[in-house]
Amino acid sequence: MLILDTEASCDVIVIGAGHAGCEAALAAARMGCRTRLFSLKPDTIAQMSCNPAIGGIAKGHLVREIDALGGQMAQTTDQAGIQFRMLNTRKGPAVRSLRAQADRTGYRLAMTATIMEQHGLEVVAAEVTRLWLGDGRVLGVITADGRRYRAGAVVVTTGTFLRGLIHIGPVHFPAGRAGEPAAEGLSNSLTEIGFPLGRLKTGTPPRLDGRTIDFSRTEPQYGDEPPVPFSYRTERLAVDQIACHLSYTNEQTHRIIRENLDRSPLYSGAICGTGPRYCPSIEDKIVRFADKNRHQVFLEPDGRDTHVYYPNGISTSLPVDVQLDFLQMIPGLEHVKMVRPGYAIEYDFVQPTELWPTLETKRVAGLYHAGQINGTSGYEEAAAQGLMAGINAALAVRGAEPLILERSEAYIGVLIDDLITKGTNEPYRIFTSRAEHRLLLRHDNADLRLMAHGHRIGLLPEPLYRRMEQKRAAIGRELARMRTTRITSSQVEPLTARGLTVNGGEPLAQLLRRPGVNCGLLQQWLGWTDPITPEIAEQVEIELAYEGYIERQRREVERLRQDEHRLIPPSFDYDRVIGLSTEVRLKLRAIAPRSIGQAARISGVTPAALSLLLIALQRAQTSTDAPRPAQPA
Ligand code: FAD
Repeated sequence: MLILDTEASCDVIVIGAGHAGCEAALAAARMGCRTRLFSLKPDTIAQMSCNPAIGGIAKGHLVREIDALGGQMAQTTDQAGIQFRMLNTRKGPAVRSLRAQADRTGYRLAMTATIMEQHGLEVVAAEVTRLWLGDGRVLGVITADGRRYRAGAVVVTTGTFLRGLIHIGPVHFPAGRAGEPAAEGLSNSLTEIGFPLGRLKTGTPPRLDGRTIDFSRTEPQYGDEPPVPFSYRTERLAVDQIACHLSYTNEQTHRIIRENLDRSPLYSGAICGTGPRYCPSIEDKIVRFADKNRHQVFLEPDGRDTHVYYPNGISTSLPVDVQLDFLQMIPGLEHVKMVRPGYAIEYDFVQPTELWPTLETKRVAGLYHAGQINGTSGYEEAAAQGLMAGINAALAVRGAEPLILERSEAYIGVLIDDLITKGTNEPYRIFTSRAEHRLLLRHDNADLRLMAHGHRIGLLPEPLYRRMEQKRAAIGRELARMRTTRITSSQVEPLTARGLTVNGGEPLAQLLRRPGVNCGLLQQWLGWTDPITPEIAEQVEIELAYEGYIERQRREVERLRQDEHRLIPPSFDYDRVIGLSTEVRLKLRAIAPRSIGQAARISGVTPAALSLLLIALQRAQTSTDAPRPAQPA
């Protein structure tokens, strides 16, 4: 092929303008890098391939963390949201999380406008078919039409497009997602470099015409009033919220699906990729949970100016006629028309154990992978990785230290550490149960945990950082006041009159831990004139109510931190560790853990193996510290 060099080189190239690519490109450009974003189809920038919603349990935590670091997803969701709900409000603060229903088109257009307006960011409509390598690192990319673009770093965020193959019943055809071509060339380029590629699968439900749904036969679900915004930058959300509706599958639905299982590519053997265990298709649910006689179906509007509805919970790749038959058994959908059938898609991914914690590949310096190509599923997981890859690509181009988040400070840290340490054989999604210290990693304190990082690397604007520091100081002042102010004898009677048993002399913190008591009520009862804002009150109440647990988790983090800070040089020779089994040696060599802490999380690495490793590390350290013999003259 004739290769043409293009005029100007740039600092960072991002391949793919999905959820990972948008965050990566914006982060790099906002950090001062000249950035090029390649997209097969720029009119599908930030397209939501599946459900029109952002957030949910643990995923909402990721979105808040992205925002606290200076990323974009939260702001765009606030712009395009049509319904906002805080989930798990009756449960503990660790598992509360925001979820927003988004206008699919609105989200895409809002993100596209942000990308197009970003200084230092240029969008190129082209398919990247090859990575351009030289001098042991990536030099740039080559497009299908033979143009060659040079860059200091390249971030690959190709989603489900690498050799994408769609399945609907007996029909199979190459595509990146419905209506878009697959990317065929880049997989070969990755294989030639030596990356092991695997196959995964995901699926989506049919889209429905809302004018043919009888909503009177379903249960409405409304958003919170007032809605809580996702972004720390959004002062107030003025949004006219739209209701979702809930219906259920039934025995009739299940019977039709069961009778047609042999026509499903999942069961006929046509699909070889592994699907998401935690987000199964409806045919999978019927087989795996055969004792359940109904499954929820959330009818979610696709946007404000469309009749299209997304039936959440029934992704399927059954033939089109079977899809319509089983849909029409669901209450409210008796006369439903399908706008588009559901489908499954198989695609290539690269094992994420190929990556350093910066998301740079171990094989090729300057090359980063983020999003679904790393075996994850979900917009939020993709965006979180895209942000971190974009940040680290920009930092590397600048010659600065990378940003690596620890498991104890962010869900993003948990996500990346899980991927690079354990790899994955099925689409990975985040859960609160994946985090060891989830009481510290709350949705409500992402700003306190992460804004300092965002500010230090130049991504988070100064006023936001200042505001967070003021908030931190105010929380400290209020906590001190609650811990040191004691109930006076004159306050006993008014408090007793409100049904509280007090003797006088107790600190207010003790009172605040009682059920039904909160900062607002205390303020009112004690006649305080200086107001406590709701966001300060929330932190004070959580910190006091869960003080014992939070303290225990902080001590645990401190204890583990020692291991996280015992670093292993990337070039460490595991053959020098005497007594290691071959299996453990091979695993350690393949993962090349950054620290003893990470080594301990590799499956099969036992405490005994860790002790041997520690001894070998100390020996290596001592020998490099020892004074060198004088060079002969
Ligand atoms: P994508 O959003 O897929 O974006 C990839 C981008 O790369 C696209 O813009 C594409 O044009 C571009 N691109 C690809 N190759 C090239 C190339 N060679 N050159 C230039 N540009 C290129 N997630 C869930 O959480 N729950 C679900 O139920 C769910 N179901 C899904 C069902 C389907 C059918 C699909 C397709 C996805 C589903 N997802 C689901 C996953 C979710 O869509 C992805 O996890 C998320 O979009 C991944 O983001 P990404 O940025 O990695 O890739």
